[in-house]
Amino acid sequence: MTSNTQTFSLAIFCDFDGTFAIEDVGSTLARKHLSKRRSLLWEKLKMGDLDPWRYASELFGGFEFSEAETDKFLESVSLDPGAHDLLRWCKVREVPFRILSDGFDRNLDKIQQHQQVFFDYDANHLEILGDRWHVTPGYPDVSCGCGTGVCKKSRIQKFVVKNPEVRTVHIGNGRVSDLCASLFVDYVFAKETLAEELEERNHRFIKFDTLFDVIDSLDKIVRPRT
Ligand SMILES: [Mg+2]
Ligand SMILES: [Zn+2]
Repeated sequence: MTSNTQTFSLAIFCDFDGTFAIEDVGSTLARKHLSKRRSLLWEKLKMGDLDPWRYASELFGGFEFSEAETDKFLESVSLDPGAHDLLRWCKVREVPFRILSDGFDRNLDKIQQHQQVFFDYDANHLEILGDRWHVTPGYPDVSCGCGTGVCKKSRIQKFVVKNPEVRTVHIGNGRVSDLCASLFVDYVFAKETLAEELEERNHRFIKFDTLFDVIDSLDKIVRPRT
């Protein structure tokens, strides 16, 4: 990373569903179109009979939803009101920004095109063949207890090994997919079930409502102390 006016460097990792985007693409689709299957699998997930990736793959594997139907739905997804500003904040400060998503690459590509917003990301893989969804995990890590298709902690860990001097930030909303990363980074921004979980664990985090709140706090974090 090139030098800037900060006293130290930051790198920002951000969840997509319910954090960078207002709605959760996967759970909104599942509630609308797979409600029976979802409630059966949800029980198994809660009981610990399925890990989060198995839950997602059994829920969405074979989902009959064409490219056209999928894209129509994706056009209705709106981003957090501060999403564009957060990207700009990072860009002018040369702060690396990466979306870590337990959703699907194809959908993120479509949303980026539609919203004219561009970011690097790690996600699970989705192909729609013959109007059916085929899903494969992106970056699972059996050594982490999260059981998700994209272990966010291991993605951040990989970055830290290469950039040990950089302080890491994670922004998220979900107890299931954001917890391992949240316990690992230097600064956590949390809302919803992630905030509840961190509170229960007495783990320090910064509460936020929209990404504008995150920007305000980041300004304070990077401001050189006088
Ligand atoms: Mg989320
Ligand atoms: Zn993990």
